[in-house]
Amino acid sequence: MRVAPSESTAIRTPHPKVPGYVADVAAIETEGLVKVYRSGGDEVRALDGVDLDVQEGTVLGLLGPNGAGKTTTVRILATLLRADAGRATVAGLDVVRDAQAVRRVIGLSGQYAAVDENLTGRENLWMFGRLYRLSSPDARRRADDLLGRFGLEDAADRVAKTYSGGMRRRLDLAAALVGRPELLFLDEPTTGLDPRGRLGMWDVIRDQVREGTTLLLTTQYLEEADELADDIAVVDHGRIIARGTADELKAQVGGERIEVVVRHPDDLRRAVATLAPNGDGTCDRHTRRVTVAARGGAQELVEVVKRLGDASVEVDDVGLRRPTLDDVFLTLTGHVAEDGSTGEDDEDEPDEELAA
Ligand code: ATP
Repeated sequence: MRVAPSESTAIRTPHPKVPGYVADVAAIETEGLVKVYRSGGDEVRALDGVDLDVQEGTVLGLLGPNGAGKTTTVRILATLLRADAGRATVAGLDVVRDAQAVRRVIGLSGQYAAVDENLTGRENLWMFGRLYRLSSPDARRRADDLLGRFGLEDAADRVAKTYSGGMRRRLDLAAALVGRPELLFLDEPTTGLDPRGRLGMWDVIRDQVREGTTLLLTTQYLEEADELADDIAVVDHGRIIARGTADELKAQVGGERIEVVVRHPDDLRRAVATLAPNGDGTCDRHTRRVTVAARGGAQELVEVVKRLGDASVEVDDVGLRRPTLDDVFLTLTGHVAEDGSTGEDDEDEPDEELAA
């Protein structure tokens, strides 16, 4: 059901994915959202003025480390929590004034255990159908359809507690789709999944997006936002600190990098001094890796190896890589995202900025 948006919220914008289509309203808009949690004498300012807008049919990735404020934002948009200040609309509906109508047009999946472990996959989806007021036969048909689309037919009649993590996440997402939501919130949909489970989840999310669902996806995984989102908002300490496409964000940190792995950790400082005499290189003692900005493409690699050889630095590996969103985060916040997704940096020994 769509309630007509008020004049002030109606924005006529071309749809980025469907030629000729004109969206009648921004799918999500927030302005100055503030949320302060109080417990005992303590206060946590979880959101400190969040401004967002998401166009219909697009995917916004809300990317940030633990505690950045991602879940709080989603809970406010999904009407589960009230902001202390600011305003938010979803499908043109005010999340406080029109909370009931908002609930009818959204689906929510992720860090919320909506699925009943003691029911089968089929029973779970049927139950959600009934909650969405489908007749029993319609709910059964909807459950069958979703079980098929999510590759869960073979496990349909097993209780959910026997499902693998990936199957659980797919069932949870299927449950969020029973009511055919216009707008989907996925809160860290692949946290805890192994790489194969993550890829499978990305496939089903992509299929859903192809059907035109507007998606707000929160993630700590930089590559996940890169893979799935049209647009990325980087959130840190309750504020949006950057907004753009993955390529735009990467462009902020400059071009390609040269990475060198030296054989002996004691050679790290000499390697950086040789390759980045102006102090714009970093190194990681744990991985014995030196990273410097590349200026001359592949040919420069040959020169790098020669210069290190002249400085008596033994090299185990050398390569060229495009900037990642990890680099973006480091540039924007001065620290790497605390998600462990790089799997390389030792938390006890963060990258050092080395002066020559
Ligand atoms: P994560 O990736 O770990 O889920 P997040 O970006 O979703 O993190 P939030 O869950 O929104 O972050 O939390 C933002 C801040 O608010 C954190 O400092 C968190 O500890 C705090 N917080 C969240 N919920 C509560 C609560 N109910 N009471 C007190 N503090 C809270």
